[in-house]
Formats: sequence, structure tokens, C-alpha cells
Amino acid sequence: CGIVGYVGPKNSAEFLLTGLRRLEYRGYDSAGVATQIGGEFQITRSVGRIDALAQRLQEKHARQQIIDGPTGIGHTRWATHGPATEENAHPHLGGDGEVVLVHNGVIENFQVLKDELIAKGYEFKSATDSEVIAHLIAEGLKLTPEDPEQLNMRYVTAVQWAINQLRGTYGLAIAFRERPNMLIAARFGSPLVIGVGRGEYFIASDASPLAGSTDRIVYMADHQLAVLTPEGFSVLHRDQGKIRVDVRPLEVSD
Ligand code: GLU
Repeated sequence: CGIVGYVGPKNSAEFLLTGLRRLEYRGYDSAGVATQIGGEFQITRSVGRIDALAQRLQEKHARQQIIDGPTGIGHTRWATHGPATEENAHPHLGGDGEVVLVHNGVIENFQVLKDELIAKGYEFKSATDSEVIAHLIAEGLKLTPEDPEQLNMRYVTAVQWAINQLRGTYGLAIAFRERPNMLIAARFGSPLVIGVGRGEYFIASDASPLAGSTDRIVYMADHQLAVLTPEGFSVLHRDQGKIRVDVRPLEVSD
């Protein structure tokens, strides 16, 4: 239903929570965030209001668990596949935790893909269609060797390999354990925007979470994929490779 993502120098959890609150108007049944620090993902999810999620994050803080790394993704879920439970709330891990993602939309061929992945040994923790994408990307990473000249390319290739197999709609924000300062966004049939800051970049399913954080926005189109790091962002099209996109002024009232 709603997506947010942050890469930059700040504590991502702050933007993620603010952003998710701005997306509440769309409706949702559960919510969650994953932040990254020191090569590990901290995932916090909760059924019900964003307030309940914020409370959980605060409790983790109180127990001194680190939850607010500089890279993070968040989601408000409106369940389509699998009931509104904590296990089904996003983010979802793929493989052995080398990838984590949030997904908007519906994957029509998820059952076929799920059966294939289970046969390959992947273990599913949720009843969602979305978790299939996470494991598929992990499989894609296995098949793609690292290119020392272009470290991000391996992740782009793995995501493209995975989404080429999907039938349905998706807006995705994806983080990788081995690339702690990079996010990938991808869209087909489900809206997604990039917020362009200075030394920080944002992903959101609509412009509303960006107000107050940046005043420059890129509206992604279908078949586009974006790579975001604190140094900048680039957009690739499925068929055209790297493309130029318009950065527009963001016009929303804070
Ligand atoms: N189909 C996914 C699910 O049921 C995503 C739903 C959404 O867009 O929130 O988890």
C-alpha cells in the first residue's frame, strides 16, 4: 500500500516513521520498517497503527538494540495475499537475509514461483506473494558474479533477473546486506517516486512523505529501476539501459 525508503547520513528510522504517518491516509492493516547498520538488518513490524510500530521501535531503543541505521525501508500493508499478521507484514527477507524488501501490488504468478523456490530450498516465513520477490532476488544474486569495476551492477542484474519473471504489479524498495549504503527501487503498475536531496535520497509511493525533507522529485515510470546511494542516483530502463530523467520541483504543502 505505502512505501518509504531512505539512504543518507541521518538515522533513517526518523524519516521512515514520519513518511509512513503521511501515508496513513491511504489505509493499511499493518506496518513495518527495516534499517541497516553494521551489515545487519533490524526489522520491526506491527499489526495496526503506525503508533504501535513507533512504540516497538522505542522499546528496542530502550533495550539498546540498534534500530536506526542510515539506510532503511518502510511499508504500510493492505493485505492481498495472507491475513494481516505480523509475519505477513513487510519488510520481507530473502535467501539467508542477504536482501530485504517492501512491495506494493500483486504478483499473479507467485504460487508457481514459490513452488520453484521451495524446491530449490528457500524457506518461506509468510503467506504473502511479496516474499517470493525477496527470495527470487537472493537467487538472482547467487547467479550473478561480482564485477569489481561496478559493484552495484551485480545487484541491479539480480533485481532485473527477478522482476523479469513477475507477472502482476509492483512498486519495490530493496536493500542489500553486503551493500549497506545503497537502495534499489523498481516499478511496474504501482506508483513510486524518488526524492532528491543533498547527500541523501528518498523513495516513496507518492509525494506526501517527502514534504519537509526535500523539494525535488522524480516520478518513476513503468519498467524503470533506480539505484540510490548517498552520492547520487541513477535510473535504468528495462530495454534502454541508463536513462536521463526529469527532476521536478516538489509542490506539496508541508
Ligand atoms: N500483495 C502484497 C501483500 O499482500 C502487498 C500488498 C500491499 O500493496 O500493501 O502483502
